[in-house]
Amino acid sequence: MNGPLRVLLVGANGRMGQAVAAAIGQDSGLTIAGGIHRDDAIAAVIDQCDVVIDFSVADASTEIAQACAEYRKPLVIGTTGQSAAQKESLATASGRVPIVFAANFSAGVNVLFALTRRAAEWLGDGFDVNVIEMHHRTKKDAPSGTAKRLLEILREVRAEGSDIAVQSIRAGDMVGEHTVIFSGRGERLELTHRAESRQTFAVGALRAACWVVRQSPGLYKMEDVLGL
Ligand code: NAD
Repeated sequence: MNGPLRVLLVGANGRMGQAVAAAIGQDSGLTIAGGIHRDDAIAAVIDQCDVVIDFSVADASTEIAQACAEYRKPLVIGTTGQSAAQKESLATASGRVPIVFAANFSAGVNVLFALTRRAAEWLGDGFDVNVIEMHHRTKKDAPSGTAKRLLEILREVRAEGSDIAVQSIRAGDMVGEHTVIFSGRGERLELTHRAESRQTFAVGALRAACWVVRQSPGLYKMEDVLGL
């Protein structure tokens, strides 16, 4: 590919869209090909980009993924809160283009995923597990996509039917905090990740964008991008 990677940003004027645009501005390897806002038609501009980055709303996911499949554009999805049917449409589109779909692009949270898996394996089902997540008051989905991914990992490791409690707190302007608590007899292990700025997600999404354009069609996670 000659020249900087051309990024089409979906949700360009949102909090994450603005953070991604700022990060692109500081990276000579990428440039903004265009921005999609609510009610804009993606088909009108998609041809001008090399990769699409989506931080918008779950209801837009299907249309974005279908457009990427049709125009053969790799896709990075940061939007969370999709229904099972919407996730299914992403999986279908990934048969034609590579898609990175990650509830959280920060390197630290992806290490938290790996540590949570190991801790659950090592400590076993004798420990109670709780997940607590905290976000700003305007976050739409609860539990967060990151908390759902933590639950998915814990369910893969722990005995079927074992109880994992999740608690969501929405308050103020917190960027995002996730804690996994393993409570045993007379001891407690807590794994906490705190995102202090959206920059961490933006930089991670750009790393995913540079990676996804070199992949074959398929549905990938941020763990794949980071090689975890
Ligand atoms: P936001 O409300 O600030 O921005 C959402 C943007 O989407 C707005 O600009 C809105 O105009 C636009 N939009 C709404 N409907 C649209 C449509 N149909 N088509 C195109 N654009 C549309 O939200 P935010 O805080 O920027 O978060 C966006 C999403 O990213 C949320 O789902 C959030 O959970 C997720 N998120 C993911 C990560 C991650 O690392 N994966 C990190 C932070 C936030």
